[in-house]
Amino acid sequence: MRIVEPVVEIEKVDYNKIMKNLERASRTCYRSEDKITEESYKTLLKNCINRGHESILEHEKITIRMVCDIGVYKDLTRHRHASFSIESTRYCNYGKDKFDNEIKFIAPVNIEKGTKLYQEWQTSCEEIEKHYIKMVELGATPDQMRMILPHSTAAVVTMTANIREWKHILSLRCTKHAHPAVEQVMIPLLLHFKENMPEIFGNIEYDEEFIKNRYAKIVEME
Ligand SMILES: Cc1cc2nc3c(=O)[nH]c(=O)nc-3n(C[C@H](O)[C@H](O)[C@H](O)COP(=O)(O)OP(=O)(O)OC[C@H]3O[C@@H](n4cnc5c(N)ncnc54)[C@H](O)[C@@H]3O)c2cc1C
Repeated sequence: MRIVEPVVEIEKVDYNKIMKNLERASRTCYRSEDKITEESYKTLLKNCINRGHESILEHEKITIRMVCDIGVYKDLTRHRHASFSIESTRYCNYGKDKFDNEIKFIAPVNIEKGTKLYQEWQTSCEEIEKHYIKMVELGATPDQMRMILPHSTAAVVTMTANIREWKHILSLRCTKHAHPAVEQVMIPLLLHFKENMPEIFGNIEYDEEFIKNRYAKIVEME
């Protein structure tokens, strides 16, 4: 068994180009393409968003690839306008060499390391892995073995959404009301978008009390 931390990879994109493409699309409405300058997208996008003219944000998309736990992707896949490809517990057999014959679990962000509670969580995961491997030996299929996998099981998820949907998802999933494991991956993503597309994501509020050193690592997708 291996305990791992969540990671969010973001596809390499040119954020300025994205915003300029959104501007070009929205200017179709007013036939004001002639007003485009190097900086004009900034005011235009802010004005559109303030007026609720948000469909223009659907013309561009961003893909991320995460290592997160099953609980996180259960929550995120509720967002119907996003697209997902998820490591399948029906086809992946963690008892095989390809997976180093072990199950990976995401360290629970809401259970303090070194506590009795953490030890209890870890022992349960070890027990589950023991039974999973025993089931492999008994000739079970991944379809059967997955019945005992817990929410903490690590999985790779590729998720794509257009900019409007990212705005919506991040406004719901970065608050105190979201599960801490969801906040852990979504807050650093929001902060990355705020930095690179302030005109679009600047006003989205997030749980500023979430402990920063627990944010998932953000990296550029290879
Ligand atoms: C804090 C929190 C707690 C939650 N707890 C629970 C829970 O206990 N149980 C549970 O089942 N779910 C729960 N959810 C999930 C929640 O109910 C939504 O299913 C999920 O957040 C997706 O949100 P959405 O429908 O706004 O977004 P999306 O699916 O991303 O859709 C975006 C927007 O499109 C529009 N839209 C999409 N589909 C339709 C439609 N069919 N009809 C009309 N408009 C549509 C809506 O305006 C919607 O906001 C929770 C979510 C949060 C953030």
